[in-house]
Amino acid sequence: MAKRKQGGAPVRQVESPASGECEAVPRLLGPNPGPQELIRIAEHAAASGDAAAAKAKLYAQLAGRRVDIACRKGCPHCCHIRVMATAPEVLCAADFIRRTFSQERQTALLQKLRETDEVTRGLDTAARAQTRLPCPLLEDDCCSVHPARPLRCRGLASFDAEACRRSFGEAAGALPVPMFTPQADLLEDAQSGMMVGLAAAGYDSHPLELTAALRIALEEPDAAERWLAGAPVFRAARIAITRRR
Ligand code: SF4
Repeated sequence: MAKRKQGGAPVRQVESPASGECEAVPRLLGPNPGPQELIRIAEHAAASGDAAAAKAKLYAQLAGRRVDIACRKGCPHCCHIRVMATAPEVLCAADFIRRTFSQERQTALLQKLRETDEVTRGLDTAARAQTRLPCPLLEDDCCSVHPARPLRCRGLASFDAEACRRSFGEAAGALPVPMFTPQADLLEDAQSGMMVGLAAAGYDSHPLELTAALRIALEEPDAAERWLAGAPVFRAARIAITRRR
């Protein structure tokens, strides 16, 4: 399939990963799901979304478009806003933290999560941005869970770091930032497909606010088992469905 945009060559459209992720959920859950199956679901959705975004970038470049993504390690501007994640994504990040952080680093992170959560709990996107508080997972201007970061974070691809600095800094998210929007759309599709698959399998797929949900996941070691058993483990971290993090 091809789509022609005004003044440019046709850009092949990348197939949305939504239906694939929806269909993958029951297969990955298997007959007796546990925490590892939930982590695999999050990893599968992240891999599918990343692959689709890479393909979209390639197709755009093959059509003669410039896709100069400005995002770099150590550029923390966008990590000051509300992040929407699903339970498997939160549990995947919590698992990464438990496996790779020292006990001292985990304790410090939990303290940061609690302090930020006390301020940001229940805030909408605009109010969260107004706090100008960094994501508690930001360490030395880098994402401390980068390999296990949520899909919405993976979707952000800016063309202009200075625009990010202005928008996410002094303007508290109120200024537009030129983005490679197919990346955000495809990662969001992968997340949506996962949510629909979880709901169809009978699990709570309500979107969660990352800081509050990760605090819960780290404070409650059996959060995954209880969530799988139908307990409203992440109720306090629920947010309304949005189109962007
Ligand atoms: S999880 Fe990582 S990438 Fe996402 S907002 Fe937090 S620090 Fe940034």
